[in-house]
Order: sequence, then C-alpha cells, then structure tokens
Amino acid sequence: MISYEIQAFGTPLVRAERPTPTPQTHEVLLQVQAAGVCHTDIHTWHGWYDLGGGKRLTMGDRGVTLPLTLGHEIVGKLVATGADSKGAEIGRNYLVYPWLGCGTCKVCRRGQEQLCPTPRFLGIFRAGGYSDHVMVPDAKYLIDIGDMPPAQAAPYACSGLTTFTAIKKIKPAILQEEPVVVVGAGGLGLMCIGLLKAMGSVGVVVVETNAERRAAAIAAGAMAAIDPAAPNAVAQCKTALGSAAWAVIDCVGSGQTVQLSLDLLIKGGQLIVVGLFGGEITLPTATLPMRAISMEGSYVGNIADLRELIALVNAQKIQPLPTQCCDLHQASSALQDLEMGKVIGRLILQPSA
Ligand SMILES: [Zn+2]
Ligand SMILES: [Zn+2]
Repeated sequence: MISYEIQAFGTPLVRAERPTPTPQTHEVLLQVQAAGVCHTDIHTWHGWYDLGGGKRLTMGDRGVTLPLTLGHEIVGKLVATGADSKGAEIGRNYLVYPWLGCGTCKVCRRGQEQLCPTPRFLGIFRAGGYSDHVMVPDAKYLIDIGDMPPAQAAPYACSGLTTFTAIKKIKPAILQEEPVVVVGAGGLGLMCIGLLKAMGSVGVVVVETNAERRAAAIAAGAMAAIDPAAPNAVAQCKTALGSAAWAVIDCVGSGQTVQLSLDLLIKGGQLIVVGLFGGEITLPTATLPMRAISMEGSYVGNIADLRELIALVNAQKIQPLPTQCCDLHQASSALQDLEMGKVIGRLILQPSA
C-alpha cells in the first residue's frame, strides 16, 4: 500500500510503500475513497500547538510517534475483515469514526472515547487516511453512508462532528430565538453555517478576515459576514445581530478571535471554542460572574454524535461543504495550500484507481 507519511516534523510528506496489512481478529481493512485535509493535520505536520507566550505543546508531549500517516476524515470501501469481525459488509462504503480511545477505561465506557486519556485517534496516533488503505481496529467504528458521495461524507468525521457538538452546546431557546456568531469561514465555519440552519437556528453572522471566504459564507446562507480587521467590527456585528451576541462559536481559536468573541457576548452569553489556532487571552476574572458569561472548549464528539449527524444530513439534505478533490500524491502540496489560506471549503485526497 502507498501512504504519505510524516517522517520528520515540518518536512514534506514522504511517499512510503509497504505491504498491505491483513486484518486480524476484530480489525477491518478499508480501501480509501476520500480523505479530508484538516487544519489539525497542519499542526500535527509541524509538530506543535501554540500555547501563547512563546510556549508550545509538542506532538511528542501529546504522544505522537513517527512515521505517521495523517488523515482523520476518511471514507473507505471495506475490502477485508478479521476472523472475529462482525456487522460490516465487504464492498460497502463507510465513514470511519476516527476518535478512538483505549476502549476500556471509564471515560471510554461512558461512551466518550474522544476524551480518553490514552487516545488512538486515526491519523494522529495511528495511521490514517493519506493512503490507499487504512486499518480500523473494529467494525463498530464504521458508519454506513448509503449512497452519499465519499468526498461529501468524509468531512463529517471531523469538521462536521466538531461543529455539530458545538451547536448542541447552545441552549435550545437561544438557538431558536437568537442569531449565532460563527468566527472563521474555513472548512469548520462553512460546515457550521449549514448545520446551524439544519438545526433550527434563526440566523448566522460570520466574522472572517478573508473576503473570498466571507463571500463563501454568504453563499452558504449567512445573514452577514464581517471583517474583524475593520475598526468598528464589534459594532457592525451588534448591528447585524440586533444586540450583543447570545452565542458565539469560534472556529479559529486564536488569542485575537477569542478576545473578540468575549467582547461580543451579551450578559448571559456563551462562547464555544473549537478552533485550535492557538494563542492566549487576558481575562478580568470578575467579569465572568458579573456578565454571567460562559466559555467552553468543544473537541470533536463521540460515535453516537457522528451517527446522529449522518442521520440528520440524510434527513435534511444539508447542502454539502464545497470540496476540491485532488490526487493522493498531492498530499504534501495540499497541506501547504491549506496552510497558505488558498482553500475554500475542504480539500479531499483521493487515491487514483
Ligand atoms: Zn480535523
Ligand atoms: Zn479510554
């Protein structure tokens, strides 16, 4: 099998050819049909997250080992199963739930594998989808996508799941009565706009620095798209919303965007941060109780959330995220294009037949 691997952090991915593995016991082997290129892949490729103040969290600290095949937004065709595998059908296309935990600790037993202290995430801690094949430890992590095109389904495993669970954290009465602010209109932000509409939101105001992405946000159904670099950006947002914000989902997560998001909140408002750009903020602590605001992080979701999301997408015929497909052998340049901000929507790698 052909994979594109990180062999040294920050250097171009390397094409590696290895024997295609044979699934053992509960394992299942899929032939990759589509693999999304996500911002997380850029952090993993560089080997660190920005913690602000010059501090870094390295991938080594997180337990990532090399070589590593990236790719956690995977749709594959099931081609082989281990002797003890049950429940999946050879020849079908499946979306892979990639946020695997150890499967045995109390966090995993509560159904929150994505929060397991010893994660086995595909494409981060184990080989992922920048390959023509991927091994999944158990068929229980496969989700039937019916006849949904693989390139459309793949991004639901990360950008879809991340925004879906963030939206579920908004209080239902707020979602139904107040417009929501979405910061950033990259893959996550655009997905968020589509899902908000499907989940009954009354409107979305987008904050985005890039004019082309602001246009993409309007095309995806946002009621306004505001440039945060404008000197009166906060006032523009409040005008578009009709008041300060009841709910903000920050899909960027830089020091500046989190600060702006906090500045936008009304008394009792909520900020949900999903972006991993990195940085830091200074927060006057008395404002938390005085303004009764809340700020929480949200990290992907569990497999039940992903199943619920796919059912919602099928039931509501949600407008797919704009995608651009490229060949697997362009994996390295695809990462660079995403990093340089050249991508609208999602880049999808597809191995040539
Ligand atoms: Zn991702
Ligand atoms: Zn666990």
